[in-house]
Amino acid sequence: MCLFLVLHMDKFRIFLKNNSRFMSSIVLMIMIPFLIVLSTLWQIRAKNDFFVNEQRSKALSSGAVLANTTDIINTPIGTIKSQIQNIAKDNQGITEITILKPKTTGFTVLASTDEQKLGLTFTSEDYVKTFASNTVITSIINDNAKSPSERFLTVSAPIKDSLTGEKTGIAYIKMSLAQSDTLSAKSTSNSLIILAITIFLVLLLLVNHLRFFEYAVLFRKLNEVDKMKDDFISIASHEMKTPMAAIKGYISMMMEGLVGKFDKQTMEHLQKINTNIQRLDLLLSETLDVSRLEQGRMQFDMTPINFSDVTNQSIKMYIDQASSKGLTLTETQSTKKPIIFADPDRLQQVMDNLIGNAIKYTQKGGITVSYETKNGKLMTVIQDSGIGMNEADRKNLFTKFYRIKNEKTVDIPGTGLGLWIAREIIRKMNGDILVESIENVGSKFTIVMPYMKEE
Ligand code: ADP
Repeated sequence: MCLFLVLHMDKFRIFLKNNSRFMSSIVLMIMIPFLIVLSTLWQIRAKNDFFVNEQRSKALSSGAVLANTTDIINTPIGTIKSQIQNIAKDNQGITEITILKPKTTGFTVLASTDEQKLGLTFTSEDYVKTFASNTVITSIINDNAKSPSERFLTVSAPIKDSLTGEKTGIAYIKMSLAQSDTLSAKSTSNSLIILAITIFLVLLLLVNHLRFFEYAVLFRKLNEVDKMKDDFISIASHEMKTPMAAIKGYISMMMEGLVGKFDKQTMEHLQKINTNIQRLDLLLSETLDVSRLEQGRMQFDMTPINFSDVTNQSIKMYIDQASSKGLTLTETQSTKKPIIFADPDRLQQVMDNLIGNAIKYTQKGGITVSYETKNGKLMTVIQDSGIGMNEADRKNLFTKFYRIKNEKTVDIPGTGLGLWIAREIIRKMNGDILVESIENVGSKFTIVMPYMKEE
């Protein structure tokens, strides 16, 4: 049993550690309704106290007036009687006024609005205390005999002789708290209704909040699955690279005649295999680049380089391909040397992709590469006179796997990943790629990079 508890406590501790935000939200969820209930109860109590205190100060002032104006010794009983009856009539809520005189056995009623008490002797604790301490004493009582639920406030004030200052009796006032109790009950029920509505709304909010927790857990799971997918793609493409290299090597040996002569038809088949292997190899390389870029694993070895050197390298690589299509491929030399800070291999990859695309999607005319400097930026412009594209296609151009599908592109192979990779690489090197294009006129891709200096 103990072991079970220890094991589960450990699990719980790990859960708390991993989900500290979740737990703090749970604590908040409990605290908020608790604080609302506490504040409402406090308000109800304060209001009740306020009503009772209001009545108490009313009774106290009536008691003081009565005690100061009553002269037991010199005033006839009849006058005192009518005096107390007048006070009771003028003060709503006063249910009884009694004037008592001290006797050896207790306090005898001299005059009272309650006729039944006349002549009776009482030994109430309040009377004794009032008389002994010479102070006004108030109490709250329930007159169980008449109405058990009704509460009364009583005031016992000492009556003193105006000349000698000697204590001569007690003025007793009984005041009903029915009105203030009704008011406070009404205010309590109003507060409780508001409390119930607030708690209901808070609970609704919490239920909604719980749904957000579900989303948060789902989101975390999705991220994990996404990462697993990325890892899988990365490992799978990487592992496929080795057998691919071997296949490519053997095909090239066969095509070069290093393993014997093949007839024309076999050579045609080999050519087709080679083309498809090249496509597969490109797809693998691009998939690897996508996963490296998405996981932030692509390395950049930044150094000052002359963009023109990169362009010349690409032109050297593609000039034969361009010529075979009857296209020109030229670089317009700029007066300033286009020096930028970048990774030469990555920049070469981008330039190869853009020039390769320009040749792929151009049927006549040619491709030019030129440079401009503007606001501290170097703009390298690759312009072609190719098929171009419309506005809608241009907007989606840098979306992964996006390929423009029309009768002009139907036979052109590709993955739709090249431009996405190119722009991501340039962005990682603090630049950007912009596109302008007119359908059937041509396209202009501009690589914008911070310009370094003129050499
Ligand atoms: P791929 O060329 O492998 O399909 P890219 O990402 O390089 O993939 O290009 C995406 C799409 O953009 C291409 O399929 C093509 O339709 C269009 N595109 C790219 N470069 C040009 C260009 N210079 N002229 C016209 N269309 C182009």
